Amino acid sequence: MNERPKRLRDYGLNTERLLWPTKGPSVFENELGDLESTLGLTTVEKAVAWAQGNSIWPDTFGLACCAIEMMSIVSARYDIARFGAEVFRSSPRQADLLIVSGRVAHKMSAPLRQIYDQMLEPKWVIAMGACASSGGMFDNYTVLQGVDKIVAVDVHVPGCPPRPEALIEGIVRLQEKIKAGVPPAYDIRGVAS
Ligand code: SF4
Repeated sequence: MNERPKRLRDYGLNTERLLWPTKGPSVFENELGDLESTLGLTTVEKAVAWAQGNSIWPDTFGLACCAIEMMSIVSARYDIARFGAEVFRSSPRQADLLIVSGRVAHKMSAPLRQIYDQMLEPKWVIAMGACASSGGMFDNYTVLQGVDKIVAVDVHVPGCPPRPEALIEGIVRLQEKIKAGVPPAYDIRGVAS
């Protein structure tokens, strides 16, 4: 006949839970289980990703009609500062998000790539509008058929032009990616392009 396995109380541990198996966890045990969320325990990686996601510094690269919609997101009506993107300027200095808005003529490809190269890593790119994403209606020899031919794009915002709300949604989606620890697109591709 099989002997039943020894229980802890057989070793002399006579706690209330062991003597009363159907009793649920005590308040103290519940509090211990919730300790991580109660104290806000985290890892350095998660904390850095949270800070990066909430402090995006855009470098604007306005090229055509989409740029007008992009500019308006700093206005009182849209107020991109609410999402941590307070510093909104046309400079790669300290910027970590390149917003390409408008069609990219081949002539502008080299300056755009130069600005991208001047940004420090980690860095992200949003292609705003049909033209930046795919050349849009300008299927001709002068326009680059998608900025992802020269830089790695993290988020494409569709539309012609996308409304400012759409660009804000693109930025929020990017924040979600950053906070979730998704590497920048150039990392996924395995090359800094
Ligand atoms: S997507 Fe439309 S609005 Fe934007 S740059 Fe192209 S043509 Fe202009």
